[in-house]
Amino acid sequence: MAETANPPRPQDEVVDIARDLIRIDTTNTGDNATAKGERAAAEYVAEKLAEVGLEPKIYESAPGRASVACRYPGADASRGALLLHGHLDVVPAEAGEWTVHPFSGEIKDGYLFGRGAVDMKDFDAMLLALVRDWKRRGKVPPRDLVLLFTADEEAGSDYGARFMVEEHPEVFEGVTEAVGEVGGFSMTLPNDLRVYVVQTAEKGLDWLRLRATGRPGHGSMLHDDNAVTRLTRAVANIGQHRFPVEMTPTVRQFLESVSELTGIEFDPGNPDETVAKLGPVARLIGATLRNTANPTRLDAGYKTNVIPSTAEAVLDCRSLPGRNDELEATLRELAGDGIDFEYEIRQPGYETGFDGVLVDAMAEAIRQADPGARTVPYMLSGGTDAKAFATLGIRCFGFAPLKLPADLDFTALFHGIDERVPLDALKFGVDVMDRFVSQS
Ligand SMILES: [Zn+2]
Repeated sequence: MAETANPPRPQDEVVDIARDLIRIDTTNTGDNATAKGERAAAEYVAEKLAEVGLEPKIYESAPGRASVACRYPGADASRGALLLHGHLDVVPAEAGEWTVHPFSGEIKDGYLFGRGAVDMKDFDAMLLALVRDWKRRGKVPPRDLVLLFTADEEAGSDYGARFMVEEHPEVFEGVTEAVGEVGGFSMTLPNDLRVYVVQTAEKGLDWLRLRATGRPGHGSMLHDDNAVTRLTRAVANIGQHRFPVEMTPTVRQFLESVSELTGIEFDPGNPDETVAKLGPVARLIGATLRNTANPTRLDAGYKTNVIPSTAEAVLDCRSLPGRNDELEATLRELAGDGIDFEYEIRQPGYETGFDGVLVDAMAEAIRQADPGARTVPYMLSGGTDAKAFATLGIRCFGFAPLKLPADLDFTALFHGIDERVPLDALKFGVDVMDRFVSQS
């Protein structure tokens, strides 16, 4: 397609692209039979990249489960490449609960509404608007950029990021650092100072199935080897356990920086107390002070008068980086004898330092776009595609810049009802990404 004489500005295009992407329903149900839209979204993205002369490739891990990758050659081939990534799928949305239809891409009161508006079609759109603008203007990035838009992030990444890492490692050749979600957004501290949190660490995902085995029998008899009794004792012990605080370098640096910026005293011996004084930020940080283990499912028995031979429970555990073995040892001790452990998912966390050229470029880009604001590192308690990329030895960061109103409960919008993103924040994001990638 021929380019028009006046190509759109990236600040305008970002809104249109984010809106188009929201209108492609990419609900990930976690089941290949019902997950939908990823192929259509991948084709849309590939077309946007090809239109300006880039050479995207679509990769399918299973019918319809599509990711797109593309390399944008940079000026200095001797430097490692930078991976810029976003996922294309979204979690389900119940239309009846929303004030607008979740896949209509409605614009209202200065916000773009829709499932994926912040998680994370906003960043997909920023990346597309940015590289389309650069390519049209013939701009060469300082080093190779690898753009990757993935399927299946919302259900563990097996059909997206993990498939790409395992089956198409050539896509990541020479990549030393990666930038994606969940970071770069602003948070307003109790003293009205704005900080932009950069994700430099992620907790691990340790989903464990516990199984107790005992002697089956009749419910009317005396019985001293009951699988249900043994399992529930283990589950109660684990559920009541409070893991000790273990401050990793990222969490310590976050608390030290915020304490310095706000004057709130930071007592390393009692970080819980410091976190509690941070207002809404507390929800983001609280779970990164320790390992956690929450029992979430129970399954045993089929008839009231039959003692079953097995009983099972599932735990949602989140380990601090490098602490997953320690977590398992503690759980085994709490569970006691006669309980088998089996991992449903075991993805270790990662942590990287808040230093280097890339981190300086983020700080500088934010300073230019929002004078007076600061960047601080933090650890995400949830999971993203980054865990898959970290297995390749890539340093991973979450930096999808958004300047947000102080009173917006941003973290509640992730997977939330009426998910939305301020239009101004989208434009701000492209502007910051332009400055950041230029200096990367
Ligand atoms: Zn996401």
